[in-house]
Amino acid sequence: MPTESTFLLAGLFLLLAAAGWAMGRFGERDEEDPPPPLNIDYLKGLNFLLNEQTDQALEHFLRMVRVDDKTIETHFALGSLFRRRGEVDRAIRIHQNIIARPDLASEQRDQALYSLAKDYLAAGLLDRAENLFSRLSQGSRYQVQALDALCGIYEQEREWEKAIDAGQRLEVLGGHSLALQIAHYYCELSEAAIAKGDYVSAREYVKKAQAGRPRTMRGALTRAHIARDTDDNATALKLYHRIIDENTYLIAETLPEIVAIYARENQTEELERALTALIKKNPDMRSLVAYTAIVNDIGGIPVIDDCVEQYMLSDATLAEFVDLQQLTADEQDSAEISALARVRRALSKLARSTPRYQCQECGFSSQRLLWQCPSCREWETQRPASRVQFDTVLQHSITKR
Ligand SMILES: [Zn+2]
Repeated sequence: MPTESTFLLAGLFLLLAAAGWAMGRFGERDEEDPPPPLNIDYLKGLNFLLNEQTDQALEHFLRMVRVDDKTIETHFALGSLFRRRGEVDRAIRIHQNIIARPDLASEQRDQALYSLAKDYLAAGLLDRAENLFSRLSQGSRYQVQALDALCGIYEQEREWEKAIDAGQRLEVLGGHSLALQIAHYYCELSEAAIAKGDYVSAREYVKKAQAGRPRTMRGALTRAHIARDTDDNATALKLYHRIIDENTYLIAETLPEIVAIYARENQTEELERALTALIKKNPDMRSLVAYTAIVNDIGGIPVIDDCVEQYMLSDATLAEFVDLQQLTADEQDSAEISALARVRRALSKLARSTPRYQCQECGFSSQRLLWQCPSCREWETQRPASRVQFDTVLQHSITKR
């Protein structure tokens, strides 16, 4: 089966013939070295293509049309076309061929190095891409693009110190703030230090994360986790409450922590009071509280149980399947486990098997909160679901049938 690149190269060979480049104008042949007749040259290329030998055809093209001022743009265009089509090996071959030319102008060399770095990136050869982008970031007209690409590479490699350095240089050269992104890099370092039990470093990193503007609430959340892990429950609680006050969607992350701390301290009445005040101040949070409680199996706290019950009774999709109003009325006479509790348990299972977070930029969804979206690579764009995604489950069960 002829591939797209077969047609592409065939088109180029025909174009070259039609353009009359046959007159020995290809490459840099010496005057006394008579050019071979073009029809043989391009027929040879076409022959490779007809025999589906695309790589040989490409080599033939590269030998036939040497890189010079007149042809260099064609080479670049061909290289980037191959990359866009996912034929990265061929793109690499073309760009290496350009770089191999000894008398290349420095601007063209940079362009070729930048293209080759993008090929390596597309091929997943991060080390090679990093080397070239680092070289270009030292002083070329691709400095800004190279630093941006380096940030992306260091994010993938989780090399946060290097990412901070590239980000800070990019801020200066690009002329726009990357405070949020850099704050997340510091938070990553802080979380890595927490994982090692190095709370001194963890605190230092989080302080740096919170120095920039705009701030990320992740800094406060990380500080709260440090306080929690070092048994400073009072500070942890204060911070968790502040996070909810400032950024209500993070209740999905903080509610389980708050409940755990109050339970450890045997202060369930305090918890009841705090949550009642919170919901009174912000009634819209009821469904998010209920959903978080369902997913994390938090029960036995009247104000939370009340939110969950209201949530279940008001869910239109759920009402299609179970008449909860009727079940609740019937259960006065039943000694068995309450109908609501059973539905709640089923909901909990359902919620845990469907995505809980979704990126507001690209729609990527995941089970746990991801500060950087793996799909669009934006920071802090995920938001929690506030309802069990019945449609996803239903769709899933229909396609399984
Ligand atoms: Zn996204």
